[in-house]
Amino acid sequence: MINTELCVECGTNTRVDGYVNRVPRDTGIIDGYNCGRCEEAYEDAQIWYDKAGKIVGRGEDEDPRFDAEGEELVNSDDFERSIDDKMYEKYEKERHTEIDAMFPDAPAFREWCQKDTNENLSDEDQKQVQTLVKNYRHNKKVNQINQWNTAGGVLESLLREKSL
Ligand SMILES: [Zn+2]
Repeated sequence: MINTELCVECGTNTRVDGYVNRVPRDTGIIDGYNCGRCEEAYEDAQIWYDKAGKIVGRGEDEDPRFDAEGEELVNSDDFERSIDDKMYEKYEKERHTEIDAMFPDAPAFREWCQKDTNENLSDEDQKQVQTLVKNYRHNKKVNQINQWNTAGGVLESLLREKSL
């Protein structure tokens, strides 16, 4: 197991960016995190369907399994969660561009993260990942990602565009 503070989705260092609301996530071999931004994007991109396949909610705030008081409904199993792929992909594209400028090794790291859920990594491969994580480069000139400092501003704008 390779322990790291990196986000297995976008490759950011959660100590530097996306620390708030980060959640532990392991991919089988890499034991890392989902950074706060990716986690937020995932929740915002979720779509809820009822039994008939009708959309009954979007995002975390419209989770139909709970009533206004936050109590779980008796029929909460009737709802199905899915992800708005288009919206999430849009997030990923913007996010990755920024993360890659800040952490030049992020593309390589993400590639490993996607690989190891499907197949076991050889000892040699694991060593490579370990070395990558250990020497993870941080371009400090790009030390603040302004776009993402607006507490979900980008995601909100994605949602708004969606509803137009
Ligand atoms: Zn992330």
